[in-house]
Amino acid sequence: PFRTSTSLTFLGSLTSQLPKLRTPEIAFLGRSNVGKSSLLNALTSSNEARVGKTPGATASVNYYSLKSDKGKDLLTFVDLPGFGYAKLSKERKDDISKTAEKYLNESPALALGILLVDIRRDVSEQDRSVLAALYDMNVPLLIVATKSDKVKDPEYEKLKITQGLGLPEGQPLIVSSVGGEGLKDLWGVILEGCRE
Ligand code: GDP
Repeated sequence: PFRTSTSLTFLGSLTSQLPKLRTPEIAFLGRSNVGKSSLLNALTSSNEARVGKTPGATASVNYYSLKSDKGKDLLTFVDLPGFGYAKLSKERKDDISKTAEKYLNESPALALGILLVDIRRDVSEQDRSVLAALYDMNVPLLIVATKSDKVKDPEYEKLKITQGLGLPEGQPLIVSSVGGEGLKDLWGVILEGCRE
């Protein structure tokens, strides 16, 4: 719906202070290289999110504003690369986890958390524990399987993830940032999340 007439602007990163934004926030979670930046760019037809960055090099909470062609703020995408998957020194990892956790617990504008998993990978113990932590925090959540263009039978891989994570029927949503599969459906869920 927003694909032709919007623009994505990087607002900045933060480590401890949470900004007061007035638009609904959609948070992306998942291990590094799962395709968070690519998906953000594909959803908004932009190149603003940096693809292939060094794992752990970014701050734990990155904000991007999606604006209409008239400059109106429509919604905010929040990249939480550190949550649950950071491969860093113990101290820095604790620091990042704390910031991401604080965001998830305290952001009044959080409309939807999107947990990305790579469709080619078996569900890991880490995926399960991140999912359990998010359920515990009562984050409204959608699981998305990325890179569907990389597998022969996406529906089969999807079923394995549904079972591996004990997800409701229909999840994960399958997407490809390269081929465009599932992006329209994902927009549908995002907009629904923003209305609630
Ligand atoms: P992030 O670390 O989670 O932000 O992941 P990136 O968006 O940087 O993607 C990591 C790598 O996976 C990059 O080389 C991307 O080009 C690649 N990638 C991401 N999404 C897709 C996809 O849907 N299909 C394919 N084939 N490659 C993808």
